[in-house]
Amino acid sequence: MTGPLLIATHNVGKVREISALLAGTRWQCAGLPAGTPDFPEDGATFAENARGKALFYADRVGLPALADDSGLIIDALGGEPGIYSARYIDPAITPGERNERVLQKLTDTPTASRTARFTCHLVLALSGQVVHETTGTCEGHITEQVCGAGGFGYDPIFRPVGHARTFAQIDRDAKALLSHRGQAVRTMIDFLQTWDPALGVS
Ligand code: IMP
Repeated sequence: MTGPLLIATHNVGKVREISALLAGTRWQCAGLPAGTPDFPEDGATFAENARGKALFYADRVGLPALADDSGLIIDALGGEPGIYSARYIDPAITPGERNERVLQKLTDTPTASRTARFTCHLVLALSGQVVHETTGTCEGHITEQVCGAGGFGYDPIFRPVGHARTFAQIDRDAKALLSHRGQAVRTMIDFLQTWDPALGVS
């Protein structure tokens, strides 16, 4: 059986990454209909926000919904930007400006102390119920300067452990093999291969 699965985010970068990973499964990815309002994120954790989004959009659209809440945790900044990653420092600035501002904050932080990680909490919801949850984390370092033009968000300043290039310097497939979102989506796909929405929450 195949069916539509709502990729419940307005973030184009996330839609591209999640849809690419789901291609070839029995699920058909659907995007949010135009005009769907933003979920007002007010949770205290990635998990709370992801559950809220998945439940909200599943209810609005009437499809099984997959939503992630994700962000960057920088040790030298006491864990910032964390759950505030999308709007850190100033919600009105561009992602490029935000990256420059993060690098400015870390000007005096030596290379060895620029440790960071991306984390992703992914939730599948349907008809007012959380069906399944997965997580992924990717350890890395914040670079000294912006490197690369691919990806989205903080990709140009994040270099995964053991790799010489940032997420913005590698292609989507290579990022998916390493990334927090790639891990969370692959584990979710293991569940989705056998889940039948007609049976609800298992
Ligand atoms: P959310 O939509 O509230 O989950 O915000 C996630 C924010 O975290 C994004 O807007 C980015 O700023 C950042 N982020 C999450 N995942 C990634 C990624 O894979 N690359 C770069 N930035 C990311």
